[in-house]
Amino acid sequence: MEYDTVRETDPEIADALEGEVTRQQEGLQMIASENHVSPAVMEAQSSALTNKYAEGYPGKRYYAGCEHADTVEELAIERAKELWGAEHVNVQPHSGSQANMGVYLAVLEPGDKILSLDLTHGGHLSHGHPANFAGQLFDVEQYEVDAETGYIDYEGLAEQAEAFEPDMIVSGYSAYPREVEWERIQAAADEVDAYHLADIAHITGLVAAGVHASPVGTADFVTGSTHKTIRAGRGGIIMCEEEHASDVDSAVFPGAQGGPLMHNVAGKAVGFKEALEPEFEEYARQVVENAETLGETLQDHGFSLVSGGTDTHLVLVDLRESHPDTTGGDAEDALEDAGIVLNANTVPGETRSAFNPSGIRAGTPAITTRGFGAEEMQAVGDAIARVVDSHDDETVRNEVREEVRALCQSHPLYEK
Ligand SMILES: *Cc1c(COP(=O)(O)O)cnc(C)c1O
Repeated sequence: MEYDTVRETDPEIADALEGEVTRQQEGLQMIASENHVSPAVMEAQSSALTNKYAEGYPGKRYYAGCEHADTVEELAIERAKELWGAEHVNVQPHSGSQANMGVYLAVLEPGDKILSLDLTHGGHLSHGHPANFAGQLFDVEQYEVDAETGYIDYEGLAEQAEAFEPDMIVSGYSAYPREVEWERIQAAADEVDAYHLADIAHITGLVAAGVHASPVGTADFVTGSTHKTIRAGRGGIIMCEEEHASDVDSAVFPGAQGGPLMHNVAGKAVGFKEALEPEFEEYARQVVENAETLGETLQDHGFSLVSGGTDTHLVLVDLRESHPDTTGGDAEDALEDAGIVLNANTVPGETRSAFNPSGIRAGTPAITTRGFGAEEMQAVGDAIARVVDSHDDETVRNEVREEVRALCQSHPLYEK
């Protein structure tokens, strides 16, 4: 992929763009929230729709000239409804965090109470962290995962809800390796007459493909990202029942945003069409199988996994027992140098800091897109173990970097 037209105007940016393509091509992208979209999605995202203002919704715009914008947004909505089985869909949120903001603004008032999972236990900033708008606007209490099992403590959550009487319970997580039991959270919400927002940002693709249980039809609101396990380009989405449709739509625009990023809505429409093909279900299954193989390989090398394994697209490794002197940051740095890009992550019962925590999180969506299966995943698990075991050893990192490059060359991302 070359950027000749950009290069004529701006060689510095063209260098960075081409450098990024090479970085993605030649390394293993294992940040659990990342993926590789198709050239079709990228082309749609860089289309002339970036020029167009389309404030409002299809058929009800504030500006003239929206006929093609309407077509694009209507198709994105129709396909999303088919993928997730939702009654109402809003495809305009610029990101997953904006989608959550849209839901909060639709039914909560400043000062209302939110009960959500602690960030260090796998929650997300936009669920009410003090540094985020949600923490500043709302009165937030947090639930946790069970310290022993690493699973959501559903009973503790229900008890906490009884005591706190939240207006909304938020489920859906950033670093949770297990399938979520949406009905149990819904039951806790019903008990105290709270709304339930299920934020499936990480698992939108797994839910669409039916390899992870769906909260659509159970939770009052479902939000998601469109660039994680579903490969529809950067953005957010909100799903709800018809009764909340107009509140959600006016909370997104004009409540939280101005004009929608119509080029990104076009990317979503194309990515959703791809996800409706039968191959996408195979992809999603392979994502989960690959995470299982990765987890088992790491366990064979003595690593311990939060919750003892995975049902999703990610594994969360707790280094404290197997590598007491290695921080998540040490592991992240050494792995990056070896061409394996993932992130240091907090683990339940974190004893270090958020900046240099005790775990690493590794995801399989992006490497599965490049065609990795069981055999490659074992090689990846072996490589991660070798680098982390000898994170100070440059020779090991250099060897692994060569192996990684060879693996990547045999599974190229784009035709040259
Ligand atoms: C990734 C993520 C989001 C959305 O993040 P954006 O970067 O704003 O798109 C929201 N919720 C959860 C649980 C996430 O993991």
